[in-house]
Amino acid sequence: MRVALFASEMDPYVKTGGLADVVGSLPKELLSYINNVDVFLPFYRDIERGNFQVTKTKIEFKLKLGSKTLNGQVYKIEDRGVSVYLIDNYHLFRKRSDLYVRGGKDYPDNLERFVFFCKGALAVIEQLSLEQSYDIFHCHDWQTALIPLYTQISDFYKNRNRPMTVYTIHNLAYQGKFPKSKFPILQLPRKYLSPNYLESWGKLNLMKAGLKFADELTTVSPTYAKEIQTKELGAGLHDILTTRKKNLTGILNGVDYSIWNPEKSSHLAANYSLADTSGKVECKKFIQKYFSLPVESDVLLTGLVSRLAWQKGMNLVIAALKDLLPEHQLQFVLLGSGDTKLEEEFLDLRKRFPNQIGVKIGFSQALAHQIEAGIDAFLMPSRYEPCGLNDKYSLRYGSVPIVHHTGGLADSVIDYQTHPIRGTGFIFYEFTVESFKEAMINALKIFQRKSEWAELMKRGMKQDFSWSKSAEQYIEVYKRHIK
Ligand code: ADP
Repeated sequence: MRVALFASEMDPYVKTGGLADVVGSLPKELLSYINNVDVFLPFYRDIERGNFQVTKTKIEFKLKLGSKTLNGQVYKIEDRGVSVYLIDNYHLFRKRSDLYVRGGKDYPDNLERFVFFCKGALAVIEQLSLEQSYDIFHCHDWQTALIPLYTQISDFYKNRNRPMTVYTIHNLAYQGKFPKSKFPILQLPRKYLSPNYLESWGKLNLMKAGLKFADELTTVSPTYAKEIQTKELGAGLHDILTTRKKNLTGILNGVDYSIWNPEKSSHLAANYSLADTSGKVECKKFIQKYFSLPVESDVLLTGLVSRLAWQKGMNLVIAALKDLLPEHQLQFVLLGSGDTKLEEEFLDLRKRFPNQIGVKIGFSQALAHQIEAGIDAFLMPSRYEPCGLNDKYSLRYGSVPIVHHTGGLADSVIDYQTHPIRGTGFIFYEFTVESFKEAMINALKIFQRKSEWAELMKRGMKQDFSWSKSAEQYIEVYKRHIK
């Protein structure tokens, strides 16, 4: 079986969120089950400037987008058995410092950029077809959602086996919506601009192409697969998802324990393991010093690493901290960036509680590991969370997660309050400040009982979310259409 995976991010080359972690890990895991996995990625500036072995191929192509004709080239990285093809157009990708957004605003030509990527990747595959024909096209998120449609109507596959297409929803909120007037860029027959196809609520909606035309749909946790079929969490697309429920599978993302592992991570002040957690004490001191907080072991050090977005429930964190900090032995550290208003609110909060709060606005893989290791409890009060990775990283790092009961968080954390024998974290069920505070207060209480907390922490460290189980489930989905 040969699989081509299409995505707009891939760790370690380029990352803004969990999508990159998944695309970075899944291909290598799939190779335990199948012969060949290639990845197609835009060639961004981060990749060009990173320390990677990129080679230029001889493949070139020309594409018509609306009234323009654009040239494309292809570069390549060989990554432990996986070929990563980088689709290049200097002006669309390498010229930009950021992936999708500049100064808080989407690039005005994002539609052109990702139509170019989809069509370019398919053009490259057509050129390569003598040597390789794929059985599966696995597309991720709206940036690649046109691929199932283009593949289905392509002349190229009229006399050949058309690859089966799988479309994975990493977050239903990001649908790739554009004004309908931009439709000509897609170079599709006019009939596709209708509510039956790519139009949704008066906009051109790229995700709909994936939802309608992919042979199979997946999303990143079983609970989220159910939630997106409801009006509340279906982001305007619940009807179409309900229609396709027979082909919609929830597969929880795995964790790459070769990267997220406190025994091995090179970023930590001290390494530690389930058998010997003493290094975690050093990691806590490191973080308290890093953020200029009093170095005290008896204070519950909470924290989070996140995109600062509405989805992530940061309003609950801010409100709960305001109430709890004055009265409790509690500290909080944050690494994140995104919504400028939220950034300012956290910076203001730090000014108000300089001995209890540390804030770093930015993106840093190293600090993300250091925070995961140094804190006692990880806060993840997301309004909704398709899968969530930091809760799973936290479990392995012995940092007890405090999470809202939603999506992949509900599938990964077991509530200590209702299951004292099996529990691995604290769950709150209603998305309110009061419920979140109650969970935090419970954590503060248990933290005082040292041996009980240690048990809880170690139970979390034993949890196993390794990729092999998830990769097996993807193989099952692929096999549905392969004879
Ligand atoms: P999402 O994909 O919605 O952002 P996930 O929990 O699925 O959320 O994945 C987030 C990933 O991005 C994790 O690997 C997390 O550590 C990382 N991340 C988020 N913000 C930052 C940041 N400011 N610095 C470093 N890593 C970050």
